[in-house]
Amino acid sequence: MKEIVILSGKGGVGKSSLTAALSHLLAENGKRRLVLTDTDVDAPNLHLVLGAEFDRSFGIQASDKAVIDYDKCSRCMACRDVCKFGSIIGKDEPVLVSYSCEGCGACAIVCPTGAITVQPVENGKINMVHSGSVRVVAGELGIGESSSGRLVDMVKKQARQEAALTRSDLLLTDGPPGIGCPVIAALKGADYAVLVTEPTPSALSDLQRIVKVLRGFRIPAGVALNRADMHGPSRNRLLAWLEEESLPLLAEIPYDPLLPQSLAQGGLGVVMYPDAPSSLAIKDLSTALADILD
Ligand code: SF4
Ligand code: SF4
Repeated sequence: MKEIVILSGKGGVGKSSLTAALSHLLAENGKRRLVLTDTDVDAPNLHLVLGAEFDRSFGIQASDKAVIDYDKCSRCMACRDVCKFGSIIGKDEPVLVSYSCEGCGACAIVCPTGAITVQPVENGKINMVHSGSVRVVAGELGIGESSSGRLVDMVKKQARQEAALTRSDLLLTDGPPGIGCPVIAALKGADYAVLVTEPTPSALSDLQRIVKVLRGFRIPAGVALNRADMHGPSRNRLLAWLEEESLPLLAEIPYDPLLPQSLAQGGLGVVMYPDAPSSLAIKDLSTALADILD
């Protein structure tokens, strides 16, 4: 099985819409059996782009937190003094501020009475979604929770299990924004990355940062330029940089008001308006990806 991750280095450049469209095109007519993952666990929305409902959800323990047993506690306050995250407060009795606890375990080490243990807690969930023949595994972090990288890792593990069960030959991942821990977790095991960008100076800066991450992991990548006709000079700067870096340009997708219109209607542009210029460009991108996979 091959794994492709779609990334952008930031949000708002059309990554999830493009991932949804590619999943549809790659699976169309049974060409490929694929599992889709939504690893943007802070703001999962791939199912909304696909117009699909959750089949089932289950809680996930992707974080550890300190737990205090007050029956054993001698109120010495050593735990409060050692916690670098300010997660234990109180004057005469330790009070845990759970949301800021990083589960590092320092308090448990210094506790003279063994009153503190670090235990896994449920801090997110995995939602399973069906969209046509495509199975979607989507992670969702609880509000105010941390450890999104660990949750992404668990989402990908679940997606690989789904792929094995359904004998899929492709895992397509809608990656998280940014260049941090969740992105690195999403990239683990990837054979190829598609980098979605648009012709603006800030998108180019984000692209340059994500390319540095990919180079660190030696993952080959190509670029999909969304809203390619939005600003000529920025497009030219981007193309010049891609050439300097020997990064392939996989597709130029023109700005198309039909795309947001189809999203507002709860459908995919490539399905609702298959002959629109943007849909044709996305089809070319899916063909290019299929060639890379083959
Ligand atoms: S586990 Fe670490 S972060 Fe949490 S309360 Fe203890 S020392 Fe603080
Ligand atoms: S270090 Fe242990 S005994 Fe001391 S206040 Fe904290 S929990 Fe209680």
